[in-house]
Amino acid sequence: MNADVIVVGAGIAGLRCATRLLELGRDVIVLERDDAVGGRVRTDVVDGFRCDRGFQVLNPAYPAMQRWVDLDALDLASFRAGVLVRQRDGLAVVADPVREPRLLGATLRSGYVRPLELAALARWAARVIAAPRAVKAQPDRALAESFDAAGVTGRLRTEVLDPFLAGVLVDSHGRTSANFTKLLVRSFVLGRPGVPRLGMGALPELLAAPLRGRVRLHAEVEAVFPSGDGVEVRVAGTRLRAGAVVVATDPVEAAVLSGLPQPAVGGLVTWWFEAPEAPHPLALIAVDGRRGHPSGAVRSPGPVWNTALMTAAAPSYAPPGRHLVAATTLLDRADGEAGEAQVRKHVGEIYGVDTAGWRVVTRHRIDAALPVQQPGTPLRRPVVVRDGVFVCGDHRDTPSLQGALVSGNRAADAVHAHLG
Ligand SMILES: Cc1cc2nc3c(=O)[nH]c(=O)nc-3n(C[C@H](O)[C@H](O)[C@H](O)COP(=O)(O)OP(=O)(O)OC[C@H]3O[C@@H](n4cnc5c(N)ncnc54)[C@H](O)[C@@H]3O)c2cc1C
Repeated sequence: MNADVIVVGAGIAGLRCATRLLELGRDVIVLERDDAVGGRVRTDVVDGFRCDRGFQVLNPAYPAMQRWVDLDALDLASFRAGVLVRQRDGLAVVADPVREPRLLGATLRSGYVRPLELAALARWAARVIAAPRAVKAQPDRALAESFDAAGVTGRLRTEVLDPFLAGVLVDSHGRTSANFTKLLVRSFVLGRPGVPRLGMGALPELLAAPLRGRVRLHAEVEAVFPSGDGVEVRVAGTRLRAGAVVVATDPVEAAVLSGLPQPAVGGLVTWWFEAPEAPHPLALIAVDGRRGHPSGAVRSPGPVWNTALMTAAAPSYAPPGRHLVAATTLLDRADGEAGEAQVRKHVGEIYGVDTAGWRVVTRHRIDAALPVQQPGTPLRRPVVVRDGVFVCGDHRDTPSLQGALVSGNRAADAVHAHLG
């Protein structure tokens, strides 16, 4: 045997799985095909700008983050607890009145604070916010249907929640599980999402620290198969053997290596721009509310679903005094692959600034950003594939950093029990 356990993939799930196995006293090797750990959580440094591979944020309210991640070591730079919304006649701010009392006046002026819709939204989410486990007992349906059923049908939904959640869920049609979305909304209500000052890639680097010497990079596993009383993997023409193997890859590759059915996945493109001046002073994620205006006058204003001035939250994302903006389009629409000119124009409209002088720093296209969480899918799925072969990743739990961490931990416990 080369080790007790081989973990295939050094994304968030694989790293948590391997660390948990080490804690349980197991000898473990991690095989990663890329040149660094992190999987879908990586940061490219381009001309001194920190560009995550697709705009994403870390929510410190995730229970798994609090349990297994030294959040202080990540030195999070937080966004404000609200959203900036492009309206037909200006920019509105909608923020949590409790956490952002200074934005209360602007929030009240936004036109979105309407008692009936707020009451409906509270009915939609309250139970899960108070008791997250309650969500498992609730019947599930698609997000759009669940909003309709709860009476969340006004402008707060169509101009703020729909575009904001589309970007977060990588789903512009509201087809994602409402139960999963409620859990996600809960974490936004309880936590203040941010980014590590050195970029999202600092998260997997931190998770990999206890695994020094056990992670092999540039090691692409080609096959996983039973062998005697253990399991073998084929990697670059050689074979490694262990008592158990955990397939901790993305869901597409997991289907190839483990034979599990391949889930549907959603994709996106994030553009990173350097702006000569900050387009807005506040560290808020911005969306275009015009696409949901009841008049229907601007059904499809442009391809960008969210945009954020990264350097308002984390100045360390750029060289001193310079400004970095992220803008994301979704591949579930024809305009998701929009060209630079369209993206630049639309971001300019959202902030109400001229973007002619903006420079593209880089662009990331991620075809399989998130597995789709279909309504009715159990929030936790089995991690045992067959004797000695296990699987983890966000496709086994919820499509999130929380889900990836939990699935990795669950798989490690299952392997430990299997090895006896
Ligand atoms: C652009 C974007 C934005 C996101 N935004 C958020 C957000 O704001 N909040 C949130 O909670 N979540 C977000 N997510 C989701 C979150 O990043 C993922 O759920 C999580 O990172 C998945 O981790 P994983 O370990 O399951 O899979 P992965 O990160 O895909 O890791 C799998 C690893 O396996 C390796 N691998 C694959 N095949 C092989 C092979 N044959 N041999 C060896 N190694 C292999 C890969 O190289 C990779 O390192 C976002 C994701 C993306 C892409």
